[in-house]
Amino acid sequence: MTSAPLLELSEVGKNFGGFAALKAVSFTVPTGGITGLMGPNGSGKTTLFNIISGFIAPSNGTVAYRGKAIGHQSVQERSLDGLVRTFQTPKVFERLTVVENVMTGAYKKTRSGLMAGLLNTPASRREIDATREAALATCRKFDLGAVAGKQASLLPAGQRRLLELARAYQGDPQLLLLDEPSSGLTTTEIEAMTDKLRLIASEGITILIVSHDMDLMGIAENIHVLDFGRIICSGSMAEVQENTAVREAYLGV
Ligand code: ADP
Repeated sequence: MTSAPLLELSEVGKNFGGFAALKAVSFTVPTGGITGLMGPNGSGKTTLFNIISGFIAPSNGTVAYRGKAIGHQSVQERSLDGLVRTFQTPKVFERLTVVENVMTGAYKKTRSGLMAGLLNTPASRREIDATREAALATCRKFDLGAVAGKQASLLPAGQRRLLELARAYQGDPQLLLLDEPSSGLTTTEIEAMTDKLRLIASEGITILIVSHDMDLMGIAENIHVLDFGRIICSGSMAEVQENTAVREAYLGV
């Protein structure tokens, strides 16, 4: 089955002063499934993620999402359109509980907003209750039900990563951009993370994942490899592992 790409990068370049961090990067992310982006340190992965999510602008080229160029859109506008990202270092609200953290992911779906919440109207109370119920269901889905009432600062690394994922999920993503979601995790925690990513993908949410982790990358159907700001290989994990340019980039052999 072929479908229109959800994300399309065309000739994307980025210069920092005289240094070209990205050079004419082109690839597409199909709708549905899991796509991977790999590359040695300094190859341009974070720069590309920052361009896709709108934190920085490219020097050249275009990024199209759902068939439209999005270069003019802010980070917030992209996130409202379903382009939601996580960060290499999990960003959780330490002093909020787990369920409250997940609730913050849904802020864009709430109608009455902060003012009505402060005024504590019946409508805003109903909305907050419904948002909390939905967030609790998400906590259970991400194996965080038992710690939903716990302060986020008390969570170990594996649960922090799952919490970040749960919060991003609560933002109704169409394209979820995950930056090193397994970094700092044990093998068992990586397996739990992999299960949740498969679950998210099974619901029709498209995932683009940046990772060094070969075990985690095994779940990507298609992988693009960056080296010195260029795509040097695209294909399945088996194809990428056999590719001479990739072996040279990673192992120098
Ligand atoms: P990766 O995420 O693959 O490790 P990055 O995208 O962080 O790579 O960096 C790619 C290259 O661009 C590196 O050489 C890095 O030093 C350089 N770089 C990234 N951001 C900046 C910046 N704001 N100013 C100057 N150089 C930068």
